[in-house]
Amino acid sequence: MDDAFLGKLRECLGERGLLTAPEDMAPYLREWRGHFECTAGAVARPASTDEVAAVVTACAEAGVGIVPQGGNTGLVGGAAPQSADGQIVLALDRMTRVRGIDTDNDTITVEAGCILADVQKAAAEVHRLFPLSLAAEGSCRIGGNLATNAGGVNVLRYGNARDLTLGLEVVLADGRVWHGLSGLRKDNTGYDLRQLFVGSEGTLGIITAATLRLYPALAQRETAFAGVTDPAAAVALLGRLRAASGDNVIACELIPRFGLELALRHIPGCRDPLDETHPWYVLVELASPAEGTWLREALESGLEAAFEAGEVADAALAGSLDDAGRFWHIREHIPEAQIREGASIKHDVSVPVSRLPAFVAEAAAAIEDAMPGVRVCAFGHVGDGNLHFNLQQPEDADGKAFLGRWREANRVIHDIVARFDGSVSAEHGIGRLKTGELARYADPAKLAMIRAIKQALDPRGILNPGALVAGDD
Ligand code: FAD
Repeated sequence: MDDAFLGKLRECLGERGLLTAPEDMAPYLREWRGHFECTAGAVARPASTDEVAAVVTACAEAGVGIVPQGGNTGLVGGAAPQSADGQIVLALDRMTRVRGIDTDNDTITVEAGCILADVQKAAAEVHRLFPLSLAAEGSCRIGGNLATNAGGVNVLRYGNARDLTLGLEVVLADGRVWHGLSGLRKDNTGYDLRQLFVGSEGTLGIITAATLRLYPALAQRETAFAGVTDPAAAVALLGRLRAASGDNVIACELIPRFGLELALRHIPGCRDPLDETHPWYVLVELASPAEGTWLREALESGLEAAFEAGEVADAALAGSLDDAGRFWHIREHIPEAQIREGASIKHDVSVPVSRLPAFVAEAAAAIEDAMPGVRVCAFGHVGDGNLHFNLQQPEDADGKAFLGRWREANRVIHDIVARFDGSVSAEHGIGRLKTGELARYADPAKLAMIRAIKQALDPRGILNPGALVAGDD
């Protein structure tokens, strides 16, 4: 990479803010799933919005691509730089300040590099809840959460990252700063620009700070692990519990027997919560900020009705936070158990909740037909119609050869998703992994608008080149 350009970056950032030695850059050049080899000319680590703006200005002048990076936990290669002489990583990991909390307005303003768990903690300290929650919360950063419009386990009750964002501060592709850190619930002064940047995966601007919604801290929390007959029973159970609890279900996760078996086999500390085996399980959590014990009664009465209707065969109710933690330990470690079991092909898909049972049946039959011996591990956020429809390699198959069939498997599953009016990326985004899938399945008018917005906000294409808008195969 050009020395004069690197000198300019060093001038903006100081020695600590610019990494060029391979051993220093290495942690930023890893991609979680191993789909992409990463390479970059440098890693810029600005400590303030002004420094981000200076880096972007320098890159715009030099025509150098910028790959923004938060916690680097993304699952679609969005933060994976691809050029040693034409791209730098812009890491937000030194911008970790909580700029302010307004308890009357129920908002928190944080810098983009704040780790999600730290935002949750800062909210808890003032008796508030920041409800975004996902298994990577100890390492993903709020800028990355917003840039990917992260979902997680509480979308059912609180919405996704988009719904939690009230204001943004963003450095634009020419280095100007948009000061949009509003804490307003109502603001109809033209286009809602913040929604352009949420979910834009670093292709339209660099998010440097955000004002986020807070909610009252929870006073009651009830968790159950229920054995159910099939996904239709899971959907029915969710409806019953929503009604019984006054719509206080905050999470509802579907787990297949195979997923539980993988966790029991590979993850220390996992124990089957039920005595008998069941084809499917629902991990459900009810919570309310109101004091009392009525949620427990609501949970029990909803489960009892489901039991009588033949939807639920058995259920374990958490008697303590430790019990609940043990149920969640199973759910959160299914992806890791899948890795330990061997190779797996992933699909992060959504369909309308009402059509989810039929989708699971059709997709499982089609893929078992196309890839005999494949083991379907479809788990996830049933309350949002979002399943991680993952495929485990057949026992004794060659893992590498199985992964070589990734695109073929995608075609089978994603074609069915399209017929069910679903999405081929429910919560992980497009990144570099799914640009072809976006081009293939998106409505042509939508694609044209995406390209027009990209052209308007980043005419030189320096922001995250190759991510989201690149593919047209
Ligand atoms: P990164 O991986 O660093 O970046 C992700 C994308 O955002 C990239 O395109 C990057 O260029 C861009 N970006 C990062 N920061 C900025 C910024 N400040 N401005 C502009 N663009 C930026 N995701 C879910 O939605 N739900 C889940 O339940 C979930 N569970 C997960 C569990 C595990 C174990 C793992 C490893 C991942 C999981 N993910 C989940 C995916 C991932 O954690 C999320 O996508 C997360 O929001 C990414 O945050 P990050 O800080 O790691 O972003």
